[in-house]
Formats: sequence, structure tokens, C-alpha cells
Amino acid sequence: MQPTSFNDLKGKVCVITGGAGVLGSAMVKAIASVGTKIAIADINKEVAEKVAAEIAAESGSQVIGVEANVLDKESLEAAKAEINEKLGDIDVLINGAGGNSPKATTSVEQILEENLDNLDDTFYGLEMEGFDMVFALNFKGTLLPTMVFTKDMLKNKKGVVLNISSMNSYKPLTKIPAYSAAKASVNNFTEWLAVHLAKVGIRVNAIAPGFFITNQNRFLVMDEKTGNFSPRGQKIVDNTPMGKFGEPEDLQGTTLFLISDISSFITGIVVPVDGGYSAFGGV
Ligand code: NAD
Repeated sequence: MQPTSFNDLKGKVCVITGGAGVLGSAMVKAIASVGTKIAIADINKEVAEKVAAEIAAESGSQVIGVEANVLDKESLEAAKAEINEKLGDIDVLINGAGGNSPKATTSVEQILEENLDNLDDTFYGLEMEGFDMVFALNFKGTLLPTMVFTKDMLKNKKGVVLNISSMNSYKPLTKIPAYSAAKASVNNFTEWLAVHLAKVGIRVNAIAPGFFITNQNRFLVMDEKTGNFSPRGQKIVDNTPMGKFGEPEDLQGTTLFLISDISSFITGIVVPVDGGYSAFGGV
């Protein structure tokens, strides 16, 4: 019989990359609340350990912080060995590390005829270094941890991968071409890998969060001086039918649903959690 609760997650082992971040730590709280053992694998070991200790104390679940760079296979292998030793075989992987860079962000939304003599603020002024960094972090940073952390799932013929995409993956937002294309590649890879692993018991899905104010986008959506929304931040709210930014906690239910056996026949999907943004045509 199909489970009707998240009880199957009790005692399982979940690794979450970037789990010390704003959205990741909200997911960790939800997963810890159902008794799952969690390893927060983050490049920032100090913050990972601090967040892990706080959530472990609150929830009573075993939560550890482990240093890992999602772009470095050796570092991931070392993290896996530590997780296996401390928590056991890995059952669930959440690929949460990701983000944008100002070096791959244009200052203007569109090129206007009157600005043709100053292209620095446009697509033509972007730095390849920014593109390389954003593509590496979001795409390779999903691919490599999946290669390393799903090995136990393959052995046990059971497991779940949850990738973190973005609204930009469906329709690119102005100014952030690298991030948008990189997140589109995460959706595509989610589908590809779901098919590849479907016969060995490993499900692969993704969440596409709408708009949440976090460290990586604050510079785009808030006016630092006034503390009000920037015109771009206001545009996002106006185009979100629920009329607000999301709270990190809004991702918790969908996370539990997709990593639990409750969704055992679901693989290869990307679920928007966006206050209706992707359903709205703007008029
Ligand atoms: P965040 O910056 O708060 O957290 C990201 C975490 O990843 C940090 O703890 C950071 O230390 C870690 N990290 C960065 N580089 C790493 C690396 N190389 N190896 C391991 N860890 C690394 O970001 P967030 O807003 O919580 O975003 C989490 C995910 O959600 C990202 O994939 C992001 O692209 C996606 N997302 C965010 C939003 C939003 O509105 N904030 C919307 C859609 C999608």
C-alpha cells in the first residue's frame, strides 16, 4: 500500500548541497522534522556546521555539516566517505548549491538605439568568467554531486534526487542570461537522468522556486538605500498573482512530497513553487 505520510523518511540519510543557504536551510528544517538524518554539504564548512547544530538541537534529528565543493569531485568523494561513516548509506540527494554572478548580469534590460555607443552595460559587456562561473555552479554543480552521492542508491536500487531549478528555466528574466540558460539545463538534465535511472529505482525531480529574497538576488530586487523594492522587485510582485515574494518555508511541503515514497511513481518533473507566476501571462 502507498504511504500516506512522510514516515518513510524517518531514519533515511539525506545530503543537501548548499544546505547552509537561505532556501536550503528551510528545506533541512522540514526534512529534519520528520526524523531524517541530514548532511549539509556546503563550501562554507563553518556556516554548514552552525546551521546543522541549530537544526539538530531544534528537531532532535541527527544533522551534520560537511565541507564540500560541488565543482570538485575529490572534495565530494571525501564528503561522501565522511557522511557514510557518520550517517550511513545515502538515500536522498538534494542539489541545492547554485546562484548567479554580477559578472554575468547586464545593467540594462534591452539595448536601445540611443545607447549604441555605450555597450558596456549590455550583453556585449559581459565577462566570460561570469558565464563560466554561473554555468559551472548550476549545471556542473548538479551533475558532479549526483555522480558521487547516488552511488549508494544504485547499490541499494532505491533513492531520490531533487534538483533546484528556477522560474528562469521556463522563460528567461532580463539581465541574467547565464543563470537562465544554466537553470534551463538543470530542467533538461532532470528529465534525462530520470529516464536513465528509472529502471534502477532512483527517481529524479526538480523544484523551480519562484521569487524569494535571498543574498544572491537582493542587489537586483531591493533598493539598498530606501529598503523598498527596486523597480524590478516591484515588477516581480506585480507579476506574481499572489502579490508577494515567497518565504523559504513555502518550499518545505513540495520538498517532503518529492523526496518521500508518497511520490513513488513521479520522476522527471519540475514543480513550480511560485505563487502563480508561471501561470500568469502578465495581463
Ligand atoms: P544562498 O546563496 O543562500 O545559498 C547557496 C549555498 O550554496 C550557500 O550556503 C553557499 O555557501 C553554497 N555554495 C556556493 N557555492 C558552492 C559550492 N561550489 N559548493 C558547495 N556549496 C556551495 O542561495 P539560495 O537563494 O538559498 O539558493 C539555493 C538554490 O535555489 C540555488 O540553486 C538557487 O539558484 C536556487 N533559487 C533561488 C531563488 C531565490 O529567489 N533565491 C529562486 C530560484 C532558485
